[in-house]
Amino acid sequence: MKVLKIDHVGVAVENLEETLAIYTGILGLELHGTEVVEDQRVKTAFLPVGEAEIELLASTDPEGPIGKFVAAKGQGVQHLAFRVADLDAALAELKAKGVRLIDEKPRYGAGGARIAFLHPKATNGVLVELCERKA
Ligand code: ZN
Repeated sequence: MKVLKIDHVGVAVENLEETLAIYTGILGLELHGTEVVEDQRVKTAFLPVGEAEIELLASTDPEGPIGKFVAAKGQGVQHLAFRVADLDAALAELKAKGVRLIDEKPRYGAGGARIAFLHPKATNGVLVELCERKA
């Protein structure tokens, strides 16, 4: 498997507008766009930082994955996403190595990316996302 770069860092927040004001106002980052991902029950906002991005994630449903995360652990870094050239090949390789996965098959995330999550138990506590983008 070839990891190309850190694609983004996912940060779970309670209030997207309030947090955007912090990232744009204090850090001077620029908002690249927002998107509701129905499948994940989140509203996301992307703020580019060099070649990577900060992905802010606010739950649209308390029972969704981000809603549950914030309820259990509070706001903060939720996942780390690595860009890979070929997600299907990466998942096949991880499966062959017996790595515990949340997603056996790719699904679609924000921005039309193909994504899959590894189980945090497989990585000593960090929820890792693999991400493949066309552009
Ligand atoms: Zn992500």
